[in-house]
Amino acid sequence: MKNIIKIKRHPFGGNYLAINLFGFIFTLRDLDPVELNHELIHSAQQRELLYLPFFVWYDIEWFVLWLKYRDWTTAYYHIRFEQEAYHNQCDLNYLQNRHRWHYRYNHDECGKN
Ligand SMILES: [Zn+2]
Repeated sequence: MKNIIKIKRHPFGGNYLAINLFGFIFTLRDLDPVELNHELIHSAQQRELLYLPFFVWYDIEWFVLWLKYRDWTTAYYHIRFEQEAYHNQCDLNYLQNRHRWHYRYNHDECGKN
């Protein structure tokens, strides 16, 4: 199920394109297939972690990685949920074959951010 809500401005500010909150994708513009796949990977992660624990884990991991890298952007790209999403976003069939709780932890991307 795709819950996509177009918005004019992010309520929290910031310069990101889209944010996925509890399976709802808020985006400033139409997403291309790769961008949409990235967000749908996050939806799958959130669903399998029953939503709230996903956000708690995500935020704690981001903060711990910030302590390591002292840079929010670098830390963000190292969050395991982002690693899985960035690594697999170009594979548009990924969600059909995805293993549960299989967050990749290697820093590479298949294409765009
Ligand atoms: Zn992401």
